[in-house]
Amino acid sequence: MNVLVIGGGGREHALCWKLAQSPRLGKLYCAPGNAGIAREAECVALDPSDHADVVDFCRARDIGLVVVGPEQPLVEGLVDSLTTAGIAAFGPSAAAARLEGSKGFTKDLCRAHGIPTAAYARFESPDAARAYLATHALPVVIKADGLAAGKGVVIAETPAEAEAAIDMMFGGGLGDAGASVVVEEFLTGEEASFFALVDGAVAVPLASAQDHKRVGDGDAGPNTGGMGAYSPAPALTPEIEARTMREIVEPTARAMVAAGTPFRGVLYAGLMLTPDGPKLIEYNARFGDPECQVLMMRLKGDLLEALLAACGGGLGSLRLQWHDATALTVVVAAEGYPGPPRKGTEIRGLDDAEAAGAVVFHAGTKRDGDGRLLADGGRVLGVTALGESVTEAKARAYAAVDRIDWPGGFCRRDIGWRAVERERR
Ligand code: AMP
Repeated sequence: MNVLVIGGGGREHALCWKLAQSPRLGKLYCAPGNAGIAREAECVALDPSDHADVVDFCRARDIGLVVVGPEQPLVEGLVDSLTTAGIAAFGPSAAAARLEGSKGFTKDLCRAHGIPTAAYARFESPDAARAYLATHALPVVIKADGLAAGKGVVIAETPAEAEAAIDMMFGGGLGDAGASVVVEEFLTGEEASFFALVDGAVAVPLASAQDHKRVGDGDAGPNTGGMGAYSPAPALTPEIEARTMREIVEPTARAMVAAGTPFRGVLYAGLMLTPDGPKLIEYNARFGDPECQVLMMRLKGDLLEALLAACGGGLGSLRLQWHDATALTVVVAAEGYPGPPRKGTEIRGLDDAEAAGAVVFHAGTKRDGDGRLLADGGRVLGVTALGESVTEAKARAYAAVDRIDWPGGFCRRDIGWRAVERERR
């Protein structure tokens, strides 16, 4: 079966790497891909927002499955267009991707179905939001309703910060995403992510992961797309996993079916592990990045088989096998990130790094005319290793990182610190 993957980051490299191992795979394409993905797939220049073009490509290349990596094309309805054209696609419809695309939609769904989440209120105007905030305890969390590329959440510690967030969002600072705002209770606890494959009312647990959002060691500095991750998340015990499926994922899947907009794809639940149990912080309607890299390292079975089962009603009988070992990814980013990154610096030593026992997934790379590998994004590489413990996976990943010759890059040195401390206890 020929497969087309949409996207060009570390998530899509990990998906292509795993798909390439499937005995059922024919030819693999990725749009737009990157220099690392080019090892596994033919990279093609397709604009995912031009649905007619994607459909034509799929027909011309006899594509049996399209796997949509990022959220934007999902929210824009690429899966709807492909399905209407009779082309199988993995990922939710636009209506189901609202679980990620509209925070207010998800909060209302949680309230209607008793799914544990932070208490909240929704606002369409700044005055009403201000009046509500005047009576709310601090800190308070203010969220733009729509997709805002990680910039849509403000944790306000003071009334002035809350006021500034309201002004920024309703003032158009995040475009249409901020036209509607959710104000919610601040939750405390440890954060973890949980992933499930969902096909309508059937949900199959994948695995847990934890990531590091801040750019600096000790979880300091500005937010990023994620500077590293590990799976499984030791904090997410089998008991909490069972509660997450029973209290959060399964009722959500049933609610989406009842609403006439069944969810099909990967449901990624961002959780706060509170003393009262896991609470939903947010949903994403796709794999996370870098979490996808650690998940693909741990998956033993056939990814293509699993994705086809999720698209075709066969999920109920799917039994996925995972390595018990821990996988850990260290993201290596270009200087400047999360601000404007320096592009075009040369990267060497990746073969050496992989010889040290890691897989180097590419998140933002390209080759120049002479075949040199160049940085071409903010997050550039995801150095991923397996180990019997988080401590061991971390040591292997950093041993590989240290073989990379790239003066223009930097990484955190403490990915997994929380789990490593837990192992020391
Ligand atoms: P989100 O985009 O909704 O995942 O929010 C981004 C980050 O903000 C989360 O990963 C949390 O660290 C934090 N956050 C969001 N909502 C809350 C909340 N209600 N309480 C505490 N922290 C939150």
